[in-house]
Amino acid sequence: MYIVFLGPPGSGKGTYSNITSKWLGIPVIATGDMLRDSIEKGTPLGEKVRKFLESGELVPDDIMEKVISDALDSEAADNGIIFDGFPRTVAQAEILQRLLENRGNKLDLVIELYSDDDEIIRRLSNRRVCPKCNAIYNLITSPPRDDNKCDICGTQLIQREDDKPETIRHRLSVYRKQTAPLLEFYRNQKDLKYFIIDTNGTPELARNAIRKKLLENGII
Ligand code: AMP
Repeated sequence: MYIVFLGPPGSGKGTYSNITSKWLGIPVIATGDMLRDSIEKGTPLGEKVRKFLESGELVPDDIMEKVISDALDSEAADNGIIFDGFPRTVAQAEILQRLLENRGNKLDLVIELYSDDDEIIRRLSNRRVCPKCNAIYNLITSPPRDDNKCDICGTQLIQREDDKPETIRHRLSVYRKQTAPLLEFYRNQKDLKYFIIDTNGTPELARNAIRKKLLENGII
């Protein structure tokens, strides 16, 4: 089962792709995490993409093609993959289709998440992440147990550079211009299942809504 999570920054792609990964027993490829790791480690890829992540712009499609192709080759993905944050443009969706086809696979399901801008800004400004294991917290709705430390690995949590208010607004406008056309692109594909999930409410509501859809469609 190959699944794409789509939605604006802060709509919960990271949170719900990880939950779905546990339900289905298939790995997540989270391009934002991969790019941040490469910057952190100072790799040549990290050097190339740093300026895009810092400003909230999209990394060019040719660089992303290489990233995703390498990830597909290295991931133990016998039962499928969940993509979090890829594709983000129609051109990337076409790249994904081609890369999956070359490997004898195809995309089965798109899960579109949506939230209001006010909620997104509130959520992202309170988001904290673990730089080591990428766990995601929210200071208001899902704070860590121990003051600012990761529940899973004990590492000091950080605020992502691009979760500062000005960059959040820019990322939202980039989403509208470059990623929103993808919704239409995928909605119009016949052999593809497409779920739309409202993530404005509590995490539990959205989690249950996704689970219900997966059950109704015989996916879990
Ligand atoms: P995310 O963690 O998914 O919010 O991604 C953080 C940043 O990584 C984005 O603002 C982009 O700069 C970059 N990025 C992640 N995925 C992609 C992608 N598929 N295409 C281009 N840039 C990406």
